[in-house]
Amino acid sequence: MKTYNDIYLAARHELKRAGVEAFDLEARLIISAVAGKSKEEFYRDLKLYALGDTEERVQELIERRKNDEPLAYVLGEWEFMGLPMKVDPGVLIPRPDTELLAEKALGILRESSEPGRRVLDMCCGTGCIGISIARMKRDCRVILADNSMKALRIARHNCLKNSVTQNTTVLEADAMKDPPMLLGKFDLIVSNPPYVPSFEVLTLDNSVKDFEPVEALDGGPDGLDFYRAMIPHWTDILKPGGSILFECGEGQAEKIGRMLEKVKFEKVEYYEDPAGTKRVIAGLGKK
Ligand code: GLN
Repeated sequence: MKTYNDIYLAARHELKRAGVEAFDLEARLIISAVAGKSKEEFYRDLKLYALGDTEERVQELIERRKNDEPLAYVLGEWEFMGLPMKVDPGVLIPRPDTELLAEKALGILRESSEPGRRVLDMCCGTGCIGISIARMKRDCRVILADNSMKALRIARHNCLKNSVTQNTTVLEADAMKDPPMLLGKFDLIVSNPPYVPSFEVLTLDNSVKDFEPVEALDGGPDGLDFYRAMIPHWTDILKPGGSILFECGEGQAEKIGRMLEKVKFEKVEYYEDPAGTKRVIAGLGKK
């Protein structure tokens, strides 16, 4: 029989030997996920004998991690805006960069206390952006839309996990086509569409290109296909005064800004991520 500490030391050692930089943290997260323990419970219980098949299950996850699989998929859950999101290889792992988009969206929604405002998260993936809005602004109604059934299943699960089923709806829709009839009008549209230029997808880290869904990354020859399709058509379903917020990749913001200027917003703004990249573009106040 082994204690949690024995398993922890062995896991740390193996991950370190495999070149995993944060071996200590990752070993703890993997064991905590298998044993269903919080950080406090993990440290509290280190001296206890591990239950049943803990060691084998930890070993399985360690093997996956050693094969470069992203930690988020190995754990099956990842945090976004402090909220837990279920993830699997059918959806992109929520990135810290995308929290900037969620924060800016919340900033806009907090400018008014009018209830019942409608928000659309287009290309929702896990649902992380829309769900954090639904959770932190409970008086808004959020529609989470994606063309991937795998994503919609996860998004639905994440609505339940975060107790926002009351003010969210999950819907199949394709950003490359016109908005479905009867979708209604929105106060705010948020979107983190695929934006990696096709030729760059193969140059991404192994842990990204070998595991994450390419259809959530590949934005066409210059990465801008989704903006080109969405800006002319999906801005029609904004209410007058409504806004649209996009995440984008390095060097894309101004090009997207020019597309937004053609639609006539009161202003187009850019927001930088901590690395100084213009990561979020906003068309504010649809005329
Ligand atoms: N930020 C992601 C990456 O660089 C791309 C996300 C996207 O295409 N929407 O891997």
